[in-house]
Amino acid sequence: MKVKILGARGSLPAPMSPSQVEARSASILNQFIEQGSVSLDKIPEFLKTLKPHQFGGYGGNTPCVEINAGQTQVIIDGGSGIRTLGYELLSGPCGKGEGEVHIFFTHFHWDHLIGLCFFVPLFIPGNKIHVYSVQPELPHVFKTLFKKPFFPVELEHLGAKIIYHQLDPRKPFTHKDLVLTPYQLDHPDPCWGYKVRAGEKVYAHCVDTEATRMTRDELGADLPLYQGIDLMVFDAQYTVMETIEKINWGHSAGLVGLDIAMREGIKQVIFMHHDPASNDDKVFAAETEVQKYHQSQIKSSIRMGQVVNTVDWKFAVEGMEIQL
Ligand SMILES: [Zn+2]
Ligand SMILES: [Zn+2]
Repeated sequence: MKVKILGARGSLPAPMSPSQVEARSASILNQFIEQGSVSLDKIPEFLKTLKPHQFGGYGGNTPCVEINAGQTQVIIDGGSGIRTLGYELLSGPCGKGEGEVHIFFTHFHWDHLIGLCFFVPLFIPGNKIHVYSVQPELPHVFKTLFKKPFFPVELEHLGAKIIYHQLDPRKPFTHKDLVLTPYQLDHPDPCWGYKVRAGEKVYAHCVDTEATRMTRDELGADLPLYQGIDLMVFDAQYTVMETIEKINWGHSAGLVGLDIAMREGIKQVIFMHHDPASNDDKVFAAETEVQKYHQSQIKSSIRMGQVVNTVDWKFAVEGMEIQL
């Protein structure tokens, strides 16, 4: 299974401004010169040593994740990150009006829909776009999105055929090589994460969530979303202090996801849904907070003679691919 993060930002697209690009470029040039080398052939090697907040950033597009396993592809959510995937799909059957696309929705907040109006396969006659959700409002959502005066092309004039599928909560749904099971997350409007299985490999999509239910008892019927997982993508919009200030805003912090991952033996975690109000330095500060917490948890577990579940975690960078 291959998981690709096409949009790592939450709530609203947040591109770097020209002044931020200028400041970043000046900083990179300074660092390169301070290294004592101005040889041009050293530049690619030097750039590889820089972290996301020092060079390319974490990305500005809102949530969209592409999953491929064997010949099967599914997309989770239609944030602004789905736009570039649409262009890529044009080189296959979608470009000839012979494509089938499968998009699973967690919920219908704007940041998870905003790319759909610019997802080109939707406009090509002959394509079939299958859309899935637990919440029953999906046909209404599409009718609202593709409606004047919000968008010039109304739903009935889209070229592609849209096929709606309503999923049952916590019931596995088989789609070719994948089995997807929706579990409820903790968000102000109903939001469903997905446990996605391809053979022996299991992915858990846990965005957007405030993770107000943490213990196994509290999670109850939704606990399986966090068990037997190879890779979890988790909502880390805020630092711990911000989660206290923004109770009921529906988002979490990296430490919370890390605690769940360590308890449940999740092997890899990617933190995403970065706050659009955070510049790359602030996202990096949140990453550092998780790093310190992880080290302190490992040390205290060792001191107490407990078994430590090590977790390989990262903060999402747009375009990141994880092979399971
Ligand atoms: Zn969101
Ligand atoms: Zn949301």
